[in-house]
Amino acid sequence: MLKRIALPAPTGVRQAGSALEKLYAKLDDTSRRCQQPLLCVSCHNPVTSAAERFAIDGRTAFHLVNPNGYQFDICVYRDALGCDPAGAPKDSNSWFEPYSWQYAQCNQCELQLGWYYTNENGDSFWGLINALLSKV
Ligand SMILES: [Zn+2]
Repeated sequence: MLKRIALPAPTGVRQAGSALEKLYAKLDDTSRRCQQPLLCVSCHNPVTSAAERFAIDGRTAFHLVNPNGYQFDICVYRDALGCDPAGAPKDSNSWFEPYSWQYAQCNQCELQLGWYYTNENGDSFWGLINALLSKV
């Protein structure tokens, strides 16, 4: 016996709060994230996207200087699927206290692309160097 397959409702008649609506929202979100990808300049691995940027104290971009005098222009991102944290978390010289930091490296070529920040509450974000990310 063949079962009838329910077809998804056309876009114009989506029901708010339904499982189908949630699926559409997820698909919309995925498609938004796939837009404006940012790639590792060295190996072109997709690292994150402009849609992942968020604001800390009203800013998404920061000009920072480390204790050795090196300057970095970074942006902060909620997620960076093409990065892995590297090294043990450190509390000293954090640009975003009370977050501790680790190196953030490309998970394809291992180039250091910035830093990964975590706090005691389990919140985390990525601070990635603008000059090391390229648009498609
Ligand atoms: Zn890379």
